[in-house]
This record gives sequence, C-alpha cells and structure tokens, in this order.
Amino acid sequence: MSSAPRVARASSWAQDGNLRLRDVPMILMYHGVAEVVEDPNRLCVTPGRFAEQMAWLQRHGLRGVGVGALVDAMRAGRPRGLVGITFDDGYVNVLESAVPELRRRGFGATAYIISDRLGGTNEWDEGPTWPLLSADGVRELAAAGIEIGSHGATHMRLAGVGPEHLSAEVHDSRNSLSALVGAQIRGFAYPYGSMDAHARRAVREAGYDFACAVAASMAEIGLMALPRVYAGQQDDAGRMTAKRLLHKARIALRPPWGGHPPGPPANTGRSS
Ligand SMILES: [Zn+2]
Repeated sequence: MSSAPRVARASSWAQDGNLRLRDVPMILMYHGVAEVVEDPNRLCVTPGRFAEQMAWLQRHGLRGVGVGALVDAMRAGRPRGLVGITFDDGYVNVLESAVPELRRRGFGATAYIISDRLGGTNEWDEGPTWPLLSADGVRELAAAGIEIGSHGATHMRLAGVGPEHLSAEVHDSRNSLSALVGAQIRGFAYPYGSMDAHARRAVREAGYDFACAVAASMAEIGLMALPRVYAGQQDDAGRMTAKRLLHKARIALRPPWGGHPPGPPANTGRSS
C-alpha cells in the first residue's frame, strides 16, 4: 500500500500539540503602509492598495485577525474564514494608515515591534528609511486593538547566534515590550525570517506562545515557526487569489519534494 507511509509522515510534521498545523490559515506579512517615492526593498504598500487587499479578504468571506487570535481559533478548531495580518518593524505609518482601514472593517492584526529601536528608523535596511513608532505610539497601537509582538531587540538575524544574543533579542525584548504595553507579549517574529532550532527553542523558553517565520520548511513549521505570505504593492486581486491557493497547496498537501525544505516561493519578496 503505497499511501501508508504518506499518512505517517504527514502526521509527524503536521502536529504541534493538539493543533493541526496543516490547517494553519494564511498569515499576511506587511511592513509599511504609505505612499513612498522610492522603495527598493518593497517594504510598503500604498493605503489604496492596502484597502483593496482588505476588501479582497472581505469579498472572499475572510476576516483579518492578529496571530494570537488566529492561534486561539486553531486551538478551538475554528480557524476557517480567518487570515492573519502582520506588520513587521513597527512603522509610524501603520498606525496612521493601516489601523483606520482595519477598524473600518472590524479586522485585527499583529504588529511586531523592535524593543530597542523605539522612535528610531529602519537604518538596518539599505535605501530610504522611515520612522518607527515611539513608546507612546506602540501604546496607541495596542489601545487601538492591535496585538503587539516582539521583532527582537535590535533586528538581528537569529540563525547561528549564541545564547547571549538570543537571550537579549528574544527574552529581554519580551520583558521590555510586556512592561511597555502592560500585558504579556505572546508572539515573536524572526527578523529577516532568520532562525534555527536554537532560536526556536529560545523563543519557546522565553515564554512566547507562537512565532512567525517567513518561508519555513515543512520540517520547521510549528507554533514556533508559522509560515507567512508576503503581501506587496503588486498584489492585486488576482495575485491575492493566487497567493492564497499557493499557501493552501504548500500547507495542506503532502510536500512533493520528499520532505526537504522547499525554499521560498519565487515571488515572496524580501523577508524581514
Ligand atoms: Zn523586520
């Protein structure tokens, strides 16, 4: 019976506790929402494009939620109809331009904040920089119903780093952001999507409930490495539909590559 090994192997990668990770809904990854002149790293979508993408979700009977709410729904066995919405880095323009659109539609989202760069800029990127939220701005985002997560302390790649850096980036950033918003931070997002088994363990041991990666391999997918789908300025309704189908295929089907990491899809774009 050639199908028996398929089932056994599929269940080994598709479970994390009682969660059926093969049912993990699509989680969209955004950075900024703004009209910008120059954007070589494809970090921003315009407010108009963002509104179109949120309208696309609603038209397809989907509701945008933060990742904490998504994980809660997965645990309750009711993730259908939900899509995770995430914003990495904590740009001021998310508060200004994305939050009004989300509120208009009754959507939630998660913003991943860099704890030691409050009020700074994305100076780690080559190209134009944009302002990051201050402490007050992060509190305002939380008060608007956006879940606050950690994106590390300084925006460091975590694959291959030692325990001291992991502790500062993962553990200390959770403590300082929890103190900032007055609630325990549940979620982490790996800068650049960069992580390994040590980083995933550090995140779990620091008390996080879940973490977002970018293009996690089938062997890595779990609550400490939830895959995300890049959403950018080029993503009109047709491309959003294609990305949703691609996500479903990647998550729900047995990997055709024999269990080896599939690598990112061709149009994933940048990954921080
Ligand atoms: Zn980032």
